Amino acid sequence: MVLAGPCAVETADQIDEAARIVAEAGCAVLRGGAFKPRTSPYAFQGLGEEGARLLFAAAERRGLATVTEVLDAADLAALGPASLLQVGARNMQNFALLQRLAGLRRPVLLKRGPGATVAEWLLAAEYLLAGGNDQVVLCERGIRTFETSTRNTLDLSAVALAKAWTHLPVIVDPSHAAGRPELILPLSLAAAAAGADGILVEMHPHPEDALCDGAQALRPEGLRDLVARLGPVVEAVGRTLWKPSQAARKAAAR
Ligand code: PEP
Ligand code: MN
Repeated sequence: MVLAGPCAVETADQIDEAARIVAEAGCAVLRGGAFKPRTSPYAFQGLGEEGARLLFAAAERRGLATVTEVLDAADLAALGPASLLQVGARNMQNFALLQRLAGLRRPVLLKRGPGATVAEWLLAAEYLLAGGNDQVVLCERGIRTFETSTRNTLDLSAVALAKAWTHLPVIVDPSHAAGRPELILPLSLAAAAAGADGILVEMHPHPEDALCDGAQALRPEGLRDLVARLGPVVEAVGRTLWKPSQAARKAAAR
């Protein structure tokens, strides 16, 4: 499946437009950060609780599930309606947060830290599992290497290893791995061929206006093209691209 949306929730109009595009493209899950971990303290930090409310409202109108980052346990109250709680790469080894999420027994998307080995990533997942939460999805989003032409380096070995060593779903985020929109399609096709269970991708209705990660965002037509081109690759490896039927999505919409 494909999970898509902007890096960050910015305005009601922006996330509503994104939700429409994501739903019409055949994706089931809308992404959008309300609590943003930014490298610089002077960068846009996300709309916080208001951003979360806008995300859930936009998703509900389109019958979409949601994935959004939990930066701190204090955010959890505002993130009550989230379908999937993202633990970001920078928080992969925030063990206090992992222990808290283990006790919550809600679905968690655990991103791999940019400097984490596969073993460290899986041990972080183990904090959730050992604490009683078996609803864990792993996400490879690129690691830091000597290469500077891409934001990070997508590690498909880690995807194949995580699939071999665990029973957990493993998805790939090509956006933060590449940092460049023109690499999203080839990396997504490669990830699907390598056995990834999903693609988490940044799409902004107007990337040039984005307050966060606009330079790596797909445009709406890029997302539609990605979904269309993923299907045959997924089928070539004996699987099917899961898309919610538009009828089911409309029935879920409120
Ligand atoms: C994000 O998904 O917008 C994000 C901040 O990702 P990561 O934690 O992988 O950098
Ligand atoms: Mn981002």
